[in-house]
Amino acid sequence: MTAGLQAEDYDIAIVGAGLSGTIAATVLGRAGYRVVLIDRHEAFPPEFRVEKIGGDQVEKFRRLGLLDAVAEAAMRFDEIVNIRRGRLLDRTRATHYGILYDELVRAMRAELPSSVRLVFGQVGDLATGPERQQVTIGKQGVVSARLVVLATGMGDVLRSRLGIEREVIHARQSLTFGFNLQPVGAPAFARPALTHYGERPADGIDYLNIFPAGGTTRANLFTFREHTDPWVKAFRQAPRRVLAETLPGLLDALGDFEITDRVQMWLQDLAVARGVERDGVVLIGDAFQTSCPAAGTGVSRLLTDIERLCLVHIPQWLASPGMSAEKIARFYADPQKRAMDDHVLALARYRRNLTIDTSPAWRLQRQVLYTRRRLIDRLDRVSPGLVARLRSLKARPA
Ligand SMILES: Cc1cc2nc3c(=O)[nH]c(=O)nc-3n(C[C@H](O)[C@H](O)[C@H](O)COP(=O)(O)OP(=O)(O)OC[C@H]3O[C@@H](n4cnc5c(N)ncnc54)[C@H](O)[C@@H]3O)c2cc1C
Repeated sequence: MTAGLQAEDYDIAIVGAGLSGTIAATVLGRAGYRVVLIDRHEAFPPEFRVEKIGGDQVEKFRRLGLLDAVAEAAMRFDEIVNIRRGRLLDRTRATHYGILYDELVRAMRAELPSSVRLVFGQVGDLATGPERQQVTIGKQGVVSARLVVLATGMGDVLRSRLGIEREVIHARQSLTFGFNLQPVGAPAFARPALTHYGERPADGIDYLNIFPAGGTTRANLFTFREHTDPWVKAFRQAPRRVLAETLPGLLDALGDFEITDRVQMWLQDLAVARGVERDGVVLIGDAFQTSCPAAGTGVSRLLTDIERLCLVHIPQWLASPGMSAEKIARFYADPQKRAMDDHVLALARYRRNLTIDTSPAWRLQRQVLYTRRRLIDRLDRVSPGLVARLRSLKARPA
């Protein structure tokens, strides 16, 4: 993999072969660019990140020609039963894919065209400028490229080395847990995919997602609690008991269950890179902006970065000499990218307020939201298809 690195000269060097870097390399490689993709891990470690692909993400993967690869590696489900306070709220009828993150990255790496050079090693240094960039990989050598794409996730080292700061918009914005479940006294859960919303603002629980992934039943619990909260300690010590106490309707909705492995926990800061308009280097995915796991938007954001960068901006940048900061700035000013970045931050604020804000305005908002959802569900059951027809009428231009 590493022999002759010094001799290598590329159009684009991508640092980080997580989800963002790998998909970007595939899109650029398929378009015929000379791409080198570098990561310190030969296999992505079993770290806790996105485990459910759904909503707009499905269409984005399809547009990038990668949905079949996701579907093949993942567990598909087409309905989620939504529960609040022990009662059916409504059902989400749409295709979703459950998949552990390391499996998702592996599936995406398997799609890399053979023209993309994949190098394993730690990038220790970057020398960037308006013409060519130098990427130093461990003791293996240096590759040179016209453009560096930094897709290093939440890691801070390379970004700081370039002098790019990170603004923490909300420290410890959310706390997310992941664990495996299995039914007790039944061969399978009656409802393969279920969302149970939190009961009270004081519990700090947005929702618990239960869905098939990784050959088992996976649970993601999205909370807005401090990691030092005694509830967190109690939950990690006795997760089944504390979960059943905090969500009393869960056992009825799901059936009896046990938690079969350790509980993973992730404390998320919301942060955005600042001063990013630099010669020769561009940031995508979590390296540019992190997201709130409860909002479920990290993958939508990184796929938007990839679509706009790889299909629109890079072809324009490479069509003329140089890789100045002015060129790079066009990506960060891209209206579609900016709209998505803003949407992700707004949704993060919304989910947190909807879950824990006890002001009269947010109490009312909660009540209106859940009452509306229940009513729409009832209407849909009384007159199947009516809600969809009304929605399509509303969506039609005047
Ligand atoms: C707990 C949790 C739950 C989430 N749930 C959801 C969800 O439900 N829906 C959703 O849409 N999003 C969710 N997200 C967000 C989503 O997982 C991330 O947005 C996404 O994984 C970011 O991918 P990335 O490629 O930018 O970064 P990463 O996947 O972190 O990849 C970064 C890569 O860079 C490599 N790297 C770093 N530094 C170097 C170096 N110096 N040299 C070489 N390689 C390097 C690393 O090895 C790694 O492979 C969740 C996140 C978390 C933490």
